[in-house]
Amino acid sequence: MAKKVFIDPGHGGNDSGAVGVDKLLEKNINLSVAKKVKDLLIKQGLEVKLSRESDTTVSLEQRTTAANNWKADCFVSIHCNAYNTAAHGIETFSYTESTSNLAKDVHSEVIKTGAYTVNRGTKTASFYVLKHTNMRAALIELAFIDNKEDAKILTTRQDDLALGVAKGICKYLGIEYKPDSGSGGEIPPVVDTNTFYRVVCGSFNNRVYAEERVEELKQLGYEDTFIIAYTKE
Ligand SMILES: [Zn+2]
Repeated sequence: MAKKVFIDPGHGGNDSGAVGVDKLLEKNINLSVAKKVKDLLIKQGLEVKLSRESDTTVSLEQRTTAANNWKADCFVSIHCNAYNTAAHGIETFSYTESTSNLAKDVHSEVIKTGAYTVNRGTKTASFYVLKHTNMRAALIELAFIDNKEDAKILTTRQDDLALGVAKGICKYLGIEYKPDSGSGGEIPPVVDTNTFYRVVCGSFNNRVYAEERVEELKQLGYEDTFIIAYTKE
């Protein structure tokens, strides 16, 4: 069964959260990053639920009740800080030190992306959503929305922030994070049309073994498999 991850974009609706530089609203940043985290985790095969999918008012009790009723395996609340326009950086909270492993994994993976100004570390706090969740919970304050440097990270580096959070959740759950490949990846253009890349799947001294390998590959659906004999120089 797929693990269940509950992501909680802080604030929303009537509650804008902190108001930052250029009237940036915390609730909008939180939701945008949370949706990116959700997309990344779904690609990793996890089940994901958000406490809100749009700009709606949701009480703290509704958030924790939804996560508890759904029996989530972990809960991550996403927020932005604000203080005195001088404070900078990222910090991640758990309810107690003994339940800080999720917070530590999420925090360290976001730090690895480099999308922060100051590493304020992991801390404990009795925030409502950390206290009233039945599963492991963490609350990340991505950056301070009320100074220019941090606000820039919140607006231009959301993909890095989301990737760090998603990787940290996978790490906590013991799931290897598989990088995005296939349709989303950039394929470089063909530079030299005379160069082809043959895929080799074994070299044998005895032709019988080579033919056995061809048979195996054909059974796997690689119909255009063939043998090339060559002499070692
Ligand atoms: Zn907040």
